Amino acid sequence: MKLGIVGLPNVGKSTLFNAITNAGAESANYPFCTIEPNVGVVAVPDKRLDKLAEMYDPDKYTPAVIEFVDIAGLVKGASKGEGLGNKFLANIREVDAIIHVVRCFESTEIIHVDGEIGPARDIETINLELIFSDIEIVQRRLDKATKMIKADKKYAGEAEVLGALLKHLEEGKPARAFADDSDDAKEVLATTPLLSGKPVIYVANMCEDDFINNIETNQYYKQVCEIAKAENARVVPICAKIEEEISDMSKEDKAMFLAELNLTESGLDRLIVQSYDLLGLISYLTAGKQEVRAWTISKGTKAPQAAGKIHSDFEKGFIRAEVIAFDDLVACGSMTAAKEKGLVRSEGKEYVFQDGDVVLFRFNV
Ligand code: GDP
Repeated sequence: MKLGIVGLPNVGKSTLFNAITNAGAESANYPFCTIEPNVGVVAVPDKRLDKLAEMYDPDKYTPAVIEFVDIAGLVKGASKGEGLGNKFLANIREVDAIIHVVRCFESTEIIHVDGEIGPARDIETINLELIFSDIEIVQRRLDKATKMIKADKKYAGEAEVLGALLKHLEEGKPARAFADDSDDAKEVLATTPLLSGKPVIYVANMCEDDFINNIETNQYYKQVCEIAKAENARVVPICAKIEEEISDMSKEDKAMFLAELNLTESGLDRLIVQSYDLLGLISYLTAGKQEVRAWTISKGTKAPQAAGKIHSDFEKGFIRAEVIAFDDLVACGSMTAAKEKGLVRSEGKEYVFQDGDVVLFRFNV
């Protein structure tokens, strides 16, 4: 699961991406991650894991991670294949969600590609490139479905949805804002890979002062929030410059720095947590003297498949999972005490894992 960072030039993408790579997780522990210059792998902040580390004093501490891809260079005309446009659209096609960085800071030194700051216009510029590319795809599918109706009436529903979707896109609205929850629409959206249908987080990049003192009064931020609301999308305020500054600090120094600014968490940490959630991901936890670790699963994953994240043998030979909710474990103080109180449940193959479950698997080898 990857998120692509997009936005117009000079909005702060590289600054944010630098912060991400500086803060980067030790990639040796995550063999499934891509190691490329434009990919950054970061730990998902998780206070529960810190608490488990306090309880178990483990040799190894392994948080969950997510990958961000820097997709620089998306400009007006990309969908027409101008410049390197097509390559960027292809890069966006490969990610599961989009982080759209929007400039909400003023500066006389850093020029804006369109002359002045305007989040609404900036967002539209990027979104339109994605929408133009989607229009071509939807038009092609519609032509095909229309031809098929002659042979089989069952294509009529599909053609109707595609026609409505095409009209929606032609009005400049992204596919993710297409409000039709009929079965036909669900089928069409699930089988048509649309760029503007990908989930998005708008990152409002503002100056230090606004981020520390006055996020809510930043006029540009308000504009971003309005657009996001209409699309059912999220907004995360950030100051990319602060993030870059603190990105190579130790955990303790970072906490001290943030406390001095009266901040409880960094913008990047909030972005990471929101990104994880946007992708529909949750963590279950394993804890022992050897290692405390967070394991990434999709919401709704059942016990054997969750076990398979650790090792395929765990899935094949799955017998039961011993599960306790994180809060219960902490309240009891230890696994032994929790067992005595009957709070450790024995769950079978149909159990759906919950975020923050602390787990021990029983399996046949
Ligand atoms: P990109 O083209 O979107 O990758 O933008 P960059 O990250 O290269 O940023 C463009 C310029 O804006 C750089 O000079 C950054 O230092 C500056 N910049 C980025 N974020 C901020 C910010 O929050 N405040 C101010 N004042 N400048 C910023």
